[in-house]
Amino acid sequence: MTNKILIINFEEIYLKGKNQNIFIKQLVRNLKRKLANYKAYLSFSKAHGGSYFIEIVKEIPDDVLQEIIFKVKNTPGITGFYVADTTGVSMEEIVEKSVAHAQQYIDEFESFAVIAKRINKSVPFSSLDIARRVGSEIHEKLGKKVDLTHPDFKLHIKVRGKYTLIYSKIIPGIGGLPVGTSGKAIAMLSGGIDSPAATFMAMNRGLHITAAHFHSVPKTSPQSIEKVKMLVKKLTDFQGQIKLYLIPVLDIQQAIAKHTDSRLRLILLRRIMLQIGEKLATIEKAKALVTGDSLGQVASQTLENMKATEEATDMLVIRPLVALDKKFIIETAQKIGTYKISILPHDDACSLFTPKSPETKAQLKYVKEQYAKLDIENLINEALQKAETVLITDTDNIPESLS
Ligand code: ATP
Ligand code: MG
Repeated sequence: MTNKILIINFEEIYLKGKNQNIFIKQLVRNLKRKLANYKAYLSFSKAHGGSYFIEIVKEIPDDVLQEIIFKVKNTPGITGFYVADTTGVSMEEIVEKSVAHAQQYIDEFESFAVIAKRINKSVPFSSLDIARRVGSEIHEKLGKKVDLTHPDFKLHIKVRGKYTLIYSKIIPGIGGLPVGTSGKAIAMLSGGIDSPAATFMAMNRGLHITAAHFHSVPKTSPQSIEKVKMLVKKLTDFQGQIKLYLIPVLDIQQAIAKHTDSRLRLILLRRIMLQIGEKLATIEKAKALVTGDSLGQVASQTLENMKATEEATDMLVIRPLVALDKKFIIETAQKIGTYKISILPHDDACSLFTPKSPETKAQLKYVKEQYAKLDIENLINEALQKAETVLITDTDNIPESLS
């Protein structure tokens, strides 16, 4: 016997007209993957209008239910969901379960309203009968008052075919679109605050992400890589599993340092990163690159520099943060849980490589001249040959602090 049902809402997807089915199918696929470990408890049913039901088919320990709630809450495409109690379709069962349901929230409300709906018309009572009976029981047993206009607490009762759904508090989801419905992209992930936030935003607009991190080990510490894995692990809260490319760029940095104008170092390195990203995109069938650039945030993130950087690739470069305030970016990073990892002190490939006076208004012609001094083809191929990949999943045991 089903004892709870998650009623999942997805307004934005629902509004997508004839594409609706594609979105719902992808959402269900994503949910099934994220909830694979809890399969024994769950039954995935069909979509009902703007909602989707997941039934909990057997007695479930509260901590397991909380884990499931966490997974659902963080699945892009879901605007919110209810954890409904279920019972049979007799008035006695409905009244008893409704009072028990309201009792769980007893400290959170004074006034309430019962919103009853009878979809199964064969029961011998009306929606109004349900609302009246349940209303007076809650009033008597829990000492709360009915207020139909501005209630603190709304109790929904839906009598369906063979069972009744009883639910009240909506748990907000993160909204957006199901991962995968917008295609694939390669996210350039440093250990900083910005790129994980940008990656999350891209996922939340339906992009399936493969992450790429460039490192300078042994010049940078191996912990800098652990840190990126921790960030990726956090991001698997939203996309159940993420492939991470780890690409060594020390040789490239040395070549840049040796052959080119030091003021352009970072721009030249970024150009190579984008070109490598483009190669990875071909391998992964991705159609865009995602970066954490934000206009004017550091002296080097100017229009001139962004242009001089992205000119190296024909790929679409998506910058979800480009016009966002630092404060908003930090709040986003805090909300998704990457902030506290990003601020762990660890060196990254770029900070060790920053010249004393970096160019802030790069001239494209000069950048291309300097770039031409490098044996790009070879440098890229060697880096790719030495690249490693790790598949990180939301069930991996990756610690949340560095040793
Ligand atoms: P972040 O906070 O993401 O590190 P930032 O504000 O430090 O960004 P930059 O260092 O100028 O900005 O980097 C701009 C973008 O370039 C980053 O957001 C990221 O997408 C990409 N990038 C920089 N360094 C790396 C790296 N080592 N590996 C992968 N991507 C990188
Ligand atoms: Mg950085």
